Amino acid sequence: MKLNQTALTRDISGEIMKFLAVIAGKIIILLSRLFKAGGGSALPGLVALRIDPRLIAKITSKLKHGTIVITGTNGKTTTAKYAAEILRESGYKVVHNRTGSNLVRGIASALIEQSTIFGRTRGDIGLFEVDEATMPNAIPQLKPKIVLVTNLFRDQLDRYGELDTTARMIGSSIAPLQGAMVLLNADDPLVAWLARDVNERSRVAFFGLDEARYISTSRASMDSKDCIICGSELQFDRRFYGHLGLYSCPNCDFKRPPLDFEAHNIYLHGVKNSSVTLRGSDKSLDVALGLSGTYNVYNSLAAYALVSTLDVDERNISMALTNSDAAFGRMERFVVNGKETYLLLIKNPIGLTQIAETLSTDSEARNFMLVLNDNFADGTDISWIWDADISALPRHSNFIYTTGIRAGDMALRFKYEGFETGKIVLVETIDDAFEQALSRTGDGETLYVLATYTGMLHIRNYLTRKGFVEGFWKEVA
Ligand SMILES: [Zn+2]
Repeated sequence: MKLNQTALTRDISGEIMKFLAVIAGKIIILLSRLFKAGGGSALPGLVALRIDPRLIAKITSKLKHGTIVITGTNGKTTTAKYAAEILRESGYKVVHNRTGSNLVRGIASALIEQSTIFGRTRGDIGLFEVDEATMPNAIPQLKPKIVLVTNLFRDQLDRYGELDTTARMIGSSIAPLQGAMVLLNADDPLVAWLARDVNERSRVAFFGLDEARYISTSRASMDSKDCIICGSELQFDRRFYGHLGLYSCPNCDFKRPPLDFEAHNIYLHGVKNSSVTLRGSDKSLDVALGLSGTYNVYNSLAAYALVSTLDVDERNISMALTNSDAAFGRMERFVVNGKETYLLLIKNPIGLTQIAETLSTDSEARNFMLVLNDNFADGTDISWIWDADISALPRHSNFIYTTGIRAGDMALRFKYEGFETGKIVLVETIDDAFEQALSRTGDGETLYVLATYTGMLHIRNYLTRKGFVEGFWKEVA
């Protein structure tokens, strides 16, 4: 009797804590909206978790269809966006940390925003992108029924240390899961290796490309060259991008595992759009993608694999994949003065290499502008531009404008790559560079703007000020 009373007291105090945490979070959300403090996607969660550290578990345990977690270096945001759209089309009520705030505080903020003041969730399924380093902290609270790992590339090394360490961290966080489906990118050796950490009460499925047309010849960003088991150098029959490909170890039995979900018949049309056939165990689907690039083929395949274990109509998958535009700033299209402009985010060697390779599939792409800033949000060390392989960028370009705080470094990078110096134009002010580049872009042609994070925000602000973009919103990381 006394025991029951203790449990009851604990339950009640737990509910009160949750209530106070949600109220505090909601007040901060309200205030930041009132004062237009720009989204504020981290602070409400941060404060709420101080009040009730178990808040995430308390809210998500009430989600009828459980939670889905997406982690990995690249592709989290786009994959989550695809999956969210497919699920919504199929009638699910999705709770999603869609602003890309993928630390626990961002997840808590999303949950608070999408709950009643009593902390009762309005959704029936949770879809969370989770930062790799946050996995050990987030997984025990989210207890996902599906986990997907996109890939592991070197990114912000200072924060994560070596890639194997990141892989081990993800591995140990998924190891205790019971009855979960773990979806792994088979083409990434480190990610495929994580299968060993999944216990026998959970399931593993692999996704990857079955493709011979778009083979990367770039040696840039071969982040995982060595077998994680015996240390020998892996042999690649083909690579799709970076170290993603068809690999095997010459000294042990480690090799690319057989695929449960695959993408084939891939056609890329520059950075503008593409088409692909996605195949699961007993079905396949031809899709026209609204985005392009091998990395987006991976994102669409990942989303396809994610939703295939749920109750989803194939038509909803095609529709979402075709109509979905790029996640914030990843690849956006604007029409400025009647000229088409694409804004592409660059942040690491592999991303820039992939964009260069994708642009090379479009013979019409010839007008380029690169914005290189070194503010904190861009990464203050810009030496990564020397690790990127930009050789695939079309040599027949009309011009390459370089601008931003480190415009000179970018111009130098192109000169060293052997681009014609007469075509490289250095303009320090981003606005001036954009105006000049745009006016030199011919009618019916496209201007491609590749920019680091704050450079991208600058361009977007500029376009908003000039009235070219509506509904600009600020992302708070
Ligand atoms: Zn080996």
